Amino acid sequence: MKRTALVALAVAAALPVLAKERPSDFTVTPTAPGAVKVCSWNMEWFPSGRPEPKPAKEEAERIDSAARFLKWQNADIVLLQEMRDAATCSNLVANAALAGFRVNVCSQFRRSTPWTDANQQDAVISRFPTVDAGFMEWNRRKPPASPPRGLTWVVLDVNGELWAFVVVHLKSNRLNAWTDEEKKTEAIVNRMKREESALQLVAWAKENLEGKTYAGRTIKNVFIGGDFNTDPAQKAYKKEKTIPTVTAAGYADTFANVPEAKRQSMPESRHYSAARFDYIFHKGAAELSTPEVAPKQYTSDHCMVSVQVKGDAPPTCPNCGGIMDFRTNPKGGQTLWVCAKWPACRGIRQTDK
Ligand SMILES: [Zn+2]
Repeated sequence: MKRTALVALAVAAALPVLAKERPSDFTVTPTAPGAVKVCSWNMEWFPSGRPEPKPAKEEAERIDSAARFLKWQNADIVLLQEMRDAATCSNLVANAALAGFRVNVCSQFRRSTPWTDANQQDAVISRFPTVDAGFMEWNRRKPPASPPRGLTWVVLDVNGELWAFVVVHLKSNRLNAWTDEEKKTEAIVNRMKREESALQLVAWAKENLEGKTYAGRTIKNVFIGGDFNTDPAQKAYKKEKTIPTVTAAGYADTFANVPEAKRQSMPESRHYSAARFDYIFHKGAAELSTPEVAPKQYTSDHCMVSVQVKGDAPPTCPNCGGIMDFRTNPKGGQTLWVCAKWPACRGIRQTDK
């Protein structure tokens, strides 16, 4: 008994943040065989939790807590919002819990005004190699619909297929006005900024990602995910065109069949009712399943949302007809399908289909 207590104490000392945050009923749906778990998470001013930095020790604890959370969730590809900078992304993937992860891209948006949007970058981290990546600020030449930040994108080689991801974090709906009249105006301007972002987003994805080829390989799936800061189920956003703009461009809402109460990613707080602000949209032929909102917020005010994705079935072995594994040559970086029975069976296929 004493020994158990000592071990428990040692674990609690090693994981001070987790001990506090990990609930006893924590469960994670396993990822289906052959599937990849795609996640989107607004990290809330990561790693400090506020616009200003915090002592390094506190920030390191939050990074550790977030990394362990992503591991428990079996995350494979994560679209992140409100990251301070690329160095913070590197610190996150350097955590032992995220062994095998890399930073695929991190934006470097300028502040749209001197006092807002500081340290709110978007990023993608994953287990997969980057084929291409970048970010683009929204065209801000049309005030008052002059939206903050922009879009951040990456093309990944996911087990031999090219999948593209776009991350966005649209204008918040927080109001800084005093009078009711001013609040009303500000809410409309915020809505216009999100709608303008959505229009630029779908036009850019169509032009730059859909159907694009790299060395003869075509992008098979395009995902758009992030914090859209709007919830069509709520009266205040009923007339807003942000989400309809994305779906009208042919992007399926991966949470379309999830009941409203089960897809709310912002739990009720002191000033706001529960809302669905975080989305993953998809265009392509992959098989999608298990759209989920993570059960607790953990290190952020937003819950993580995720969906499991199965690409095309891997090819069969030309020699024995069995399944094949996707392999990357660690020296040259070339990719190849190799028979799962290797070396007993030496069947191989080129990945450039
Ligand atoms: Zn074989």
